[in-house]
Amino acid sequence: MPRLVMKFGGTSVATVERIRNVARHVKREVEAGYDVAVVVSAMAGKTNELVGWVKDASALYDSKEYDVVVASGEQVTSGLLALALQEMGLKARSWQGWQIPIMTSEAHGSARIAAIDGTGILKGFTDNKEVAVVSGFQGVHQPTGRITTLGRGGSDTSAVALAAAVQAERCDIYTDVDGVYTTDPRIVPKARRLDRVSYEEMLEMASLGAKVLQVRSVELAMMHRVPTYVRSSFDDPADPKLGTLICDEEDIMEQQVVTGIAYSRDEAQITLRDIADKPGIAASIFVPLADANINVDMIIQVVSDNAATTDLTFTVPTADYERACALLNERRNEIAFKELQGATDVVKVSAIGVGMRSHAGVAARAFKALADKGINIRAITTSEIKFSVLIESAYTELAVRTLHSLYGLDQA
Ligand code: ADP
Ligand code: ASP
Ligand code: MG
Repeated sequence: MPRLVMKFGGTSVATVERIRNVARHVKREVEAGYDVAVVVSAMAGKTNELVGWVKDASALYDSKEYDVVVASGEQVTSGLLALALQEMGLKARSWQGWQIPIMTSEAHGSARIAAIDGTGILKGFTDNKEVAVVSGFQGVHQPTGRITTLGRGGSDTSAVALAAAVQAERCDIYTDVDGVYTTDPRIVPKARRLDRVSYEEMLEMASLGAKVLQVRSVELAMMHRVPTYVRSSFDDPADPKLGTLICDEEDIMEQQVVTGIAYSRDEAQITLRDIADKPGIAASIFVPLADANINVDMIIQVVSDNAATTDLTFTVPTADYERACALLNERRNEIAFKELQGATDVVKVSAIGVGMRSHAGVAARAFKALADKGINIRAITTSEIKFSVLIESAYTELAVRTLHSLYGLDQA
């Protein structure tokens, strides 16, 4: 029998009634002849609530206990969906990450999947024709026996990893939009749904802020060549649409120069004024940040005209901003900067497209269009298939819409 992995996100399982609707989608695929493993998220808002409780209980919380608490949201949904399937006359059972097991690293709160033992789930298929309902987001670090979680949005990754492990024909990610759009349809109503998007572009879109898929899930889909669809759980279960296929670049006929626009508010800017312009200065700043596990993204260093001092600007994730400032201030004498200026009211807007490899001047057009709207660019980065600009967050929507129109992505 061909196998299928179906994943349902938080909004799709927000109530028992919606879980019943999910069960109808599953039933359709079972009747079509698939052995099905369903991966579920926690009910909408549940994970945020659980995270809030953890922080309330302990400000500097133990990440092992954080995982114990936040993994519970998915446990509830898996049990409820198994019950809803049974009510429809299907055989079904729930599986927690540790029961399968989904083995992960020990990085509590952002663990990586190391291996999945699909034996039990496959036995359930062959012996009992039983649907496997798997709690997403969670796994186990076997040497310590402790529950782990895969980072926010991690159920996408559970689903793709499981699809690879059981050699599923495809992985269907059901969510609250009917596919991947040229940009977030919630902020640009003219965004267009894409029929297909390449693994490479989806990876960039996800990394640059399009939260429709967790980055790691796209990496796994690309690595294991899992055909992955993003589709809507709100479709009529009797008349479903396929959504967007994430696939090889070669399988896409029509390529635009720019495929999508993404934005991320998860950026904070730090500028160090009047630092000494001499060898080793960048290392004295970025090595301690790296040692503290703070990811630096955009970096701009100005070439000084007096060869004595210069300015350095870079960005860090918003969550690490305070920590980064404290760490740099502690080393103020060693780095020898005059002033640290920071800003958290910034956003990174990016354009992504494999067509950029073969077209010159794509970013230059954006700089002009943003200038025409009076939007000041604070930092720029470019790579083979994307470029990003850092701007004031008040201009997020205007900038995203401007670039979306500029590259011909607006719906007619
Ligand atoms: P789920 O709970 O199903 O995992 P998410 O909220 O994680 O759903 O992801 C779906 C959301 O991603 C959509 O509601 C949409 O607002 C947002 N999104 C951001 N960028 C895009 C994009 N390019 N295409 C589609 N959705 C996007
Ligand atoms: N429930 C988890 C979260 O909200 C995982 C997921 O939904 O993918 O981040
Ligand atoms: Mg998600």
